[in-house]
Formats: sequence, C-alpha cells, structure tokens
Amino acid sequence: MIDTHTHCDSRSSEDFELMYTSGIDTVITCAFYPYHLMNETVYLNHLERILKYDTKRAEEYGIDLKVALGIHPANTEINPDLIYENLYKYIENKEIVAIGEIGLEDLSPEEYKIFKQQLIIADETETKVIIHTPRNNKKKVLEEIKEMVNANIDPELVVIDHINKNVIEDVIDEEYTLGLTIQPQKMNVDEAIDILDKYGFDRFLLNSDISNKPSDPLSVPKTIRTLTKLDYKKSEINKVSYKNATEFFNL
Ligand SMILES: [Zn+2]
Repeated sequence: MIDTHTHCDSRSSEDFELMYTSGIDTVITCAFYPYHLMNETVYLNHLERILKYDTKRAEEYGIDLKVALGIHPANTEINPDLIYENLYKYIENKEIVAIGEIGLEDLSPEEYKIFKQQLIIADETETKVIIHTPRNNKKKVLEEIKEMVNANIDPELVVIDHINKNVIEDVIDEEYTLGLTIQPQKMNVDEAIDILDKYGFDRFLLNSDISNKPSDPLSVPKTIRTLTKLDYKKSEINKVSYKNATEFFNL
C-alpha cells in the first residue's frame, strides 16, 4: 500500500510503526516548512533533512520513504535560485521522485513566479510534479493552476492534489492524475469512496497528507479496508492502493 503525499519530517517514529503495521510499504513525503524562513539556506537545510535524515528514520520501521522536493507556495518568501540549482542536482542524481509540493495558495506574484519556474524545470527534465490546491478559495485557485500547468508542462507529468467533490468536475476531463487527501478537516473515507464510485479508480492516488496539522496516519489503510469491506473489485482497489502510484512515479 502506498501513501502518496505526506510531510513525514513533522511526524513521529510511532506513526511510521503504525503505518507499516497497517500495510503501508511506501510513503511519499513532500517539502513544506511551517514557519517563516529567515533565508533560503534554512529551506535548503529543510530539504536536505528530508532527503538524508527522515528517509533513514522511516526505513528503521520498514517504510520505504520516497521524496518530493520543491518550493511550497507557503514558502515563497525566499530567493529561489539556490533551491532551483539543487532541484536540478536532485533530479540528475535520481534522489527525488517528483518536484513537490508546489502550487498556488494566496495568488501572490512570488507564488506565480516560483510555481511557473518549477513547472518549467519539471517539463525540461521530464520530472513529475505534485501540485497543492488550497483549502480556501479552491475553485478559483485551481483555475489559475490549470492555466499555468497547461501553458508550461506536459499534463501527464502532473498530479493535482487535494481534489474534492466541489472541484472534481473542473479536472476530470483533463489529462492530470488526481490526488484524494483523506484527512480530518479535509475529506473523510466516505467522501473519497463516493468519488471513486462515481468517477472510477483509474485516475486517482490516495494520501493522508499527515503534517503538523490534525492528521490521521492510517487514513489510506482505512479507506482501502473500507473499499474491501464494501466488496469493490480487488483489481480496482489495487489501482488506488498501489498500481496507479507505482506507474505514475515509476516506483
Ligand atoms: Zn501537503
């Protein structure tokens, strides 16, 4: 089982143990720094910590922690050049499975500039991107994201995350992969299953987005087990628990 979007740097060893025991083998962790950044070196340190420290920490509990790095829209107050330079290095060394999470939040000029540049880097290097959509103003921000994506990157490289029933019709006919985040305050298991039931299992990835905010490290296994209990086909369940993510991220 794969949890495709987390922030494991802010989680405990106990979470890794619970996740592994509940059937999760692989977890993708994304960059996000929850506090004001004094400069870009602080952010680079955050990225290096995920890559070199949290992966080891997870491994001790049996979790294969894959890494997505990039400049989160909430972290766009820094000079991004040092981070771009390092993204190229991580991509070349095959140290990351995607650039992420990136996107737009408050629609500031810095966010647009940094989001666009990261889409260009991803397209140029044929790297996958994990794109965040905000809790507030989701529909409007998603429209902006779509416009930026369609102008700057092959849509097959893109997963747009935190999709819910209010915006799904805006993306279901596009070529992106779509992420469903089952998390307290965002979406519960039943809502995720409603979407899969209505739109099919082919296009979706599941994740918990565990972070420093209220989170459930077992939300993916709970969703998968509920699908099993409800007698959905094994081959369909396998798509959202494993197959779609391994194919998309080349795991
Ligand atoms: Zn996230």
